[in-house]
Amino acid sequence: MKRDGACTSLWQDGMTDYKAQQNNTAGNKIFDVVIVGGGITGITTGLLLQKAGKAVMIAEAQNIGFGTTGGTTAHLNSFMEMPFNQLIKNFGEENTRLVAKAGRQALELIKKHVEEYAIDCGHQEVSAYIYAQDEKQIKELDDIVEGFKKIGTEVSVTKTIPVKIPYEKAIEITGQAQFHPTRYIYALAKEFEKLGGVLAENCRVTSVGENEILEITTSQGTIKSRNLIYATHIPPGVNLLHFRCAPYRSYVIAAKLKNESDYPDGLAYDMDEPYHYFRTQEVDGQKYLIAGGEDHKTAHEENTEICFTRLEAYVRKFYDIDSIAFRWSSQFFDPVDGLAYIGHLPGHPQNMFVATGFGGIGMTNSHIAALTLTDIIVAGKSEYEDLFNPNRLKPVAGFSNFVKEAADVVSHLIGGTFSKEKLDTLVELAHGEAKVVKYEGHTLALYKDEEGQLHAVNSACTHIKCTVGWNTAEKSWDCPCHGSRFSYDGMVLTAPARKDLEVIHLEELVDH
Ligand SMILES: Cc1cc2nc3c(=O)[nH]c(=O)nc-3n(C[C@H](O)[C@H](O)[C@H](O)COP(=O)(O)OP(=O)(O)OC[C@H]3O[C@@H](n4cnc5c(N)ncnc54)[C@H](O)[C@@H]3O)c2cc1C
Repeated sequence: MKRDGACTSLWQDGMTDYKAQQNNTAGNKIFDVVIVGGGITGITTGLLLQKAGKAVMIAEAQNIGFGTTGGTTAHLNSFMEMPFNQLIKNFGEENTRLVAKAGRQALELIKKHVEEYAIDCGHQEVSAYIYAQDEKQIKELDDIVEGFKKIGTEVSVTKTIPVKIPYEKAIEITGQAQFHPTRYIYALAKEFEKLGGVLAENCRVTSVGENEILEITTSQGTIKSRNLIYATHIPPGVNLLHFRCAPYRSYVIAAKLKNESDYPDGLAYDMDEPYHYFRTQEVDGQKYLIAGGEDHKTAHEENTEICFTRLEAYVRKFYDIDSIAFRWSSQFFDPVDGLAYIGHLPGHPQNMFVATGFGGIGMTNSHIAALTLTDIIVAGKSEYEDLFNPNRLKPVAGFSNFVKEAADVVSHLIGGTFSKEKLDTLVELAHGEAKVVKYEGHTLALYKDEEGQLHAVNSACTHIKCTVGWNTAEKSWDCPCHGSRFSYDGMVLTAPARKDLEVIHLEELVDH
């Protein structure tokens, strides 16, 4: 199973490629719904819609799980990343109760799927723990508890936490869970196909003719559908939502520990900025400590390897590590006001939908999206549609900063302006090294691979022309503005970009 990065995640290990049963676009058929994207959102939504009697096709550009679903950490939380006390400020108490209800319903749906289809994905109900390590964090934690209480969710102050990290005060939230995400989506995809759903891998959607019957152009031909859902993590093209969601990169290690008793029993979160989080996953009899953190805005860290070094050093302070079995990083999109955007795609016909802005709570939000979009398409309405409405204009404190931050360009990543003579010296880049340079009016993104071959692409992102930056760890060109990502030789890995980066033939450039 492939992923959109060079590092291998725990969830890819041992996963053979999913073999779709009907990898075709079914001739002239008009589908009820075409879902673009085969991550946890696309697969779950496809299953619910197909179950409800709709004719559904899922079009995945690569393989299922290729996106962030293959690089997640799969904590299953019924609460959001933005604490309830803050959500109450942004959306009011009644709406925040509805958020909590949606979160609980999402976790119940995951559990129901695991039981109904007997999915072997290590699903386990556990408690979550949030711990404060100084006076300021204790005050914040007290506010968080207040928020939980106001919306009627039980939390308790606890004397013990499952991680070996010093703390001052901690709370326990029961009724949370964890699982193996790719085993889960493989099983759901199988059920979707059994019900007659069409799943096409290596099927990239490149454009949509926006009529009552949508004409969807893909790398496997044109498909017709009454509705379309972008489950691409962030919608492709240029959209209002790109100014409401900021891309972040986050780092994970999965470690084998020397002492069996050290593996935490539960989900644990500190309150640092960016935070660290921990849990255990057992896969085929082997336990792993999963630790994550070191988040930063996409393409705003010059050496992403350092993030792994820092994370590992932090974990080693508290744990006796036998070996780091896996380390990987992945991208998420933070919504400006703390809630996901699920529903009608702004600026497009009423039969086009989107699910994005999941932050670090995408396992839960994907299932909220599946429930909400299925209700909207099948019954014409959902109790959650206003709450998560992508067209909501919710001015919150810090909004203009958020937009500015999301749109800044990382000029520090550009190495300088080069003459013809100097360009020649770039061939002396070390193996595995990359640089963005200016040369006679062109800005080039150069990468020398491990075999010594130089790859040059135009560094202007094909989305809205921001300059891409090199991601050392995952060997990709990442765009700081809206999170589009490309392979070293320019192939688009992650939306919103639709097109590959232009390949530059250096010899021709120098000859000119
Ligand atoms: C390091 C990390 C840890 C996380 N941990 C947690 C956690 O513990 N708990 C939690 O709830 N959430 C977590 N999240 C968030 C969660 O993983 C994501 O929100 C979720 O996986 C997103 O799923 P998705 O299906 O929406 O998108 P993706 O999994 O990214 O899937 C989108 C798919 O769309 C495809 N695609 C894109 N463009 C096209 C196109 N034009 N045509 C066809 N297909 C296309 C892609 O190839 C991809 O497979 C984490 C995120 C990160 C980065």
